[in-house]
Amino acid sequence: MAASKYKHILFDLDHTLWDYDRNAAETLTELYKEYNLSTNGNFSDKEFVATFFEINEQLWTSYNKGQISKHVIRTQRFNKIFDQLNLPLQYQPRDIDARYVHGCPEKTHTMAYAFEVLDYLVQHYSMHIITNGFNDVQSTKLSRSGLAPYFDHVITSESCGAKKPAARIFEYTLEKISADKSECVMIGDNLNTDIQGAINADIDQVYYNPTGKAHDHAVTMEISCLSDLKSLF
Ligand SMILES: [Mg+2]
Repeated sequence: MAASKYKHILFDLDHTLWDYDRNAAETLTELYKEYNLSTNGNFSDKEFVATFFEINEQLWTSYNKGQISKHVIRTQRFNKIFDQLNLPLQYQPRDIDARYVHGCPEKTHTMAYAFEVLDYLVQHYSMHIITNGFNDVQSTKLSRSGLAPYFDHVITSESCGAKKPAARIFEYTLEKISADKSECVMIGDNLNTDIQGAINADIDQVYYNPTGKAHDHAVTMEISCLSDLKSLF
């Protein structure tokens, strides 16, 4: 399919195109070895990764709601993880968050069919990124993974001063790309930010739901695999 009312596709980045979980797990497994956490701590690399995901998701949910700052995520994340894993403070490496923040965006795993779908969509649509992620890491992720060339604009919550689900970040995007909301569709994996944000800005949405989560949002479209986009657009 190609003819549709849309001209612009707005993509989320993390967990939608860039494989956050796989890239993070790989980085954390490397850091577990480098910092000798198996010697000083009483937890496996798998427990380390699982605890990171648990704490990180809590912090990001609070961040997305405007309850905590970037600084809190960056300074408290690993302390919380190590506290939960009962690693004594004297063994908690101080610079591990900096190492994680530097190393993880260099990883290049993308979600299944990302490039195949982007190669198709780029022939018919202008595409842009809207992300609540931070400038310093999102640009590295886009360039290293090879995703960057597909996108005309990259809008981050830091550059806009508002974050999804605020309508403001979508309105800011429409101004930047000189588009009407009726010509745009937002594609993302997060109901509370990507989908609710697009609804708040009266923009159509595609909910990317690879794990088949049950929900009660009235989404415009829903897909379980990125390859489904080829038949929708
Ligand atoms: Mg996401």
